[in-house]
Amino acid sequence: MRLAFLLLLCSLTVSLAAQPDRWQQRAEYQMNIDVDVKKNQYAGTQQLTYYNNSPDTLDKVFYHLYFNAFQPGSMMDVRNLNLPDADGRVADRISLLAEDEIGYIKVKKLSQNGAAVQYETVGTILEVALNQPILPGTSVQFDMEWDAQVPLQIRRSGRDNAEGIEYSMAQWYPKMAEYDYQGWHANPYVGREFHGVWGDFDVKITIDRDYVVGGTGYLQNPEEIGYGYAPEPKKRKKKITYHFKAPNVHDFMWGADPDYRHLTKEREDGMTMHFFFQPGERTTENWENLPRVMDEAFSYINEHYGHYPYEQYSFVQGGDGGMEYPMATLITGERSFTSLVGVSVHELMHSWYQMIMGTNESLYAWMDEGFTSWASSEVMNHLRKQGLIPGEAVENPHARTFASLRGFRQSDLVEPLTIHADHFATNAAYSVAAYVNGNVFQEQLRYIIGEEAHQRTLLRYFNDWKFKHPNPNDFIRIAEKESGMELDWYKEYWVHGTDYADYAVKTVEAAGDATEITLEKVGRMPMPLEILVTLTDGSEHWYYTAPRILRATKAQPDYASNWNVLEDWPWTHPTYRFRVQHNLGSVQSVQINPRGRMFEDDVENNSWGEE
Ligand SMILES: [Zn+2]
Repeated sequence: MRLAFLLLLCSLTVSLAAQPDRWQQRAEYQMNIDVDVKKNQYAGTQQLTYYNNSPDTLDKVFYHLYFNAFQPGSMMDVRNLNLPDADGRVADRISLLAEDEIGYIKVKKLSQNGAAVQYETVGTILEVALNQPILPGTSVQFDMEWDAQVPLQIRRSGRDNAEGIEYSMAQWYPKMAEYDYQGWHANPYVGREFHGVWGDFDVKITIDRDYVVGGTGYLQNPEEIGYGYAPEPKKRKKKITYHFKAPNVHDFMWGADPDYRHLTKEREDGMTMHFFFQPGERTTENWENLPRVMDEAFSYINEHYGHYPYEQYSFVQGGDGGMEYPMATLITGERSFTSLVGVSVHELMHSWYQMIMGTNESLYAWMDEGFTSWASSEVMNHLRKQGLIPGEAVENPHARTFASLRGFRQSDLVEPLTIHADHFATNAAYSVAAYVNGNVFQEQLRYIIGEEAHQRTLLRYFNDWKFKHPNPNDFIRIAEKESGMELDWYKEYWVHGTDYADYAVKTVEAAGDATEITLEKVGRMPMPLEILVTLTDGSEHWYYTAPRILRATKAQPDYASNWNVLEDWPWTHPTYRFRVQHNLGSVQSVQINPRGRMFEDDVENNSWGEE
């Protein structure tokens, strides 16, 4: 009775809780490919059931044909030839590809509900004019046949990477472009960032029997395969078929090499980590030590950022650095142990801030690379604390990130975070906006709303928005709800503009038995301020003033035992005056932003007296 009542109560609570209201399309892929490893080509068939859950009638659809980027004269090629600071991995390499080194996806046949449709290949996009419009709330089946050539590895995907991995197969199939509340996202493949339709993938890869394949999805026929998935089968046919299924993902990646060694580790919660690497002097020992460390990383991440919803994750040696995919990553493997752990943590962290949240990273790269970088630094610091990687844990693992942002902002290359990822004027500006500004955004938010509200924000963001393509407003609304603060101004200054905060101690003067401190707002962006007054007897007194538009006060932080909340500071007022009840002679120093979690362009003007 009691249990039943409780259950009823629980289900009521769930249904009454505000659920984000956002429709999204859905795709169910069934693909069969047959790989010719001598020619580095493959033939593919795809049956795609596409659900139009939008309120709109669609009279066209778009597919990505990413491999077409790896041809001389492609948009990716020309872009890299013209960028002032092109990625060295690309540079002019596409322009030099020979016929048997280029990549392509050539669509041979496409039908909609059994009837052939008109389509045109325009670079990396297939434009499809539908026979019948897809009405809201209906689904349609597309059947496609195509031929593909795997390019020599230039960027992310391709064959024969620098470490000799034969196939790094990302962006390898015709992929339906996403249509969402912001319309179509048929972005040509120019350099970076992806956005896709959530769905189920059923993929059969037929390849010569000596190839070990790992990546996204659960292998359905391990007993036919062996190779670390199951005991070795008695015999294999000349060609074997790997059958994978991946539920509720927006992409599918695989790697293949005859030399892969495949290790697995089952975690306490039942999920399994897979590791695929090419044994050698520069890999074996580090890769054998990796599972133990990633096990602890998983535990920390699950607890702090939300529980990983799949039963498997694969670390696959391949690609050209590190790149995230659903349930898997492609990483280069010949690294120092710390670097191997670092890239593994970063790409794993992307499962939260890209694969599971599915933020449109072309538009909001800072929410995916930035949040990932922030969380990765936290995880790495934890691993250092646990003694699992070399080095000492530090008080602020983001200090160098703050410093590098400060440095970059001295250049004339700064662009706002709202630029589309492909359209930044320089790679440097993109990298800083995405990785660095996004990282600082998160740490500074923690400073603004406080540790506990921030922790709740991250977990609620995950639970409310997983599998739903959240945008910046969705994130900041969660932070507002969990902190009780008004935070739109923070998002707007940080994301839409490039003028950030800077505060100074202007004067510290005697006022009878008290001391009067005058602060100055030098930068344009308002921020809550922490001011540390240290007395000559060594005691520390913390003062706090929030911008009036915050409409709330931060809870007393753990690090501030003597915490004094001052009047709000209206952002229109260039200076701010307050008194401390100690005479000037007893004040040793006054310091703004002593913990450095508020980003300021100038930190030289933050102190008075001797620290
Ligand atoms: Zn990343």
